[in-house]
Amino acid sequence: MKTTDLTMADLVWDEEFSQVNRPHTPSEAEELQKSIEFGKVQKITDPILVIKENGNYPVIDGYHRMQYWTNRGHSVGIPEPRVELMGMTRREAVWWMRVRQGGRRNNDAEELSYQRGKALREEVALERQMESPRSVGEIAQQIAEEAGVSERTVLRDRQKSEAIDKIGEVDAEMANRIRGGETSVSFDDAVQMSHGSPQQINDQCENLRDGRRWNDYGPEPSGEDAPEEVQHEKELRLIRNDIATVQKRIIVDLRTYLIKLSQKIHPNGQPRKFGFPMKEFDQAITTIDGRLEAWKPAGVCPDCEWQGCPRCQKRGWLKGLQ
Ligand SMILES: [Zn+2]
Repeated sequence: MKTTDLTMADLVWDEEFSQVNRPHTPSEAEELQKSIEFGKVQKITDPILVIKENGNYPVIDGYHRMQYWTNRGHSVGIPEPRVELMGMTRREAVWWMRVRQGGRRNNDAEELSYQRGKALREEVALERQMESPRSVGEIAQQIAEEAGVSERTVLRDRQKSEAIDKIGEVDAEMANRIRGGETSVSFDDAVQMSHGSPQQINDQCENLRDGRRWNDYGPEPSGEDAPEEVQHEKELRLIRNDIATVQKRIIVDLRTYLIKLSQKIHPNGQPRKFGFPMKEFDQAITTIDGRLEAWKPAGVCPDCEWQGCPRCQKRGWLKGLQ
């Protein structure tokens, strides 16, 4: 690191570098502002880090501080932050931010894991363009050593970071919340979520946002929730008839068996010593009858309107009242 007399006006906003660290949440941005304006010294203590590239000075680290100063800090008398020059290439700078900088920042475990995984993926992609590329294992080992974790951890980080990026393509805000540890999603859950279609991922992110597990779509809507206006009347009637047919067969069969059984066990209508629980069996048949009755469609699912969604178990219609 080399102190410079560069000013903010000399610096270049860089698309790649600015996206390495996740954006601040509103509360993090507020925290940064407070720490600067109500700290012991009213100034930005950490320098803005840049590299020199083709005569320009792209910023590698300090985007949040830079944004704060430009949007607010300068107007409330906060002095311009210092700028330090790093003697690095672009590739080295990204590596340094993802792998080496972890300890310096108070990033939480999720973000560190994401950065290691992303570093591995980026480096593997870059190596593939080389003549004799290093293996995934070799690169993972280097990251493991420099970041102070095991190689196995780095390989898992890669999978989870891939899953988070996939989620981020559908819902960038949720991906950042997962990276920031604000919404906790386990390794297995993230990987499973990322296998869904964009529509599924979107719905799963909504579940997380509502404070449920990613695959918990909430309670199944009941017949009372069906829209009053009857749609798909014909289809609903067909399903109702199907269920009625099954219901009739099962109940008639069971009752017939029960009568036969009763005649065998009690030939003269006299209960034997080891009596069969006739009453309970009869009650069980009534329960089955009621359950099947309750299965009959009460209307179209208000969430998906016959398309089938996770909340209605993909049927598209709602069961009647239990
Ligand atoms: Zn539905």
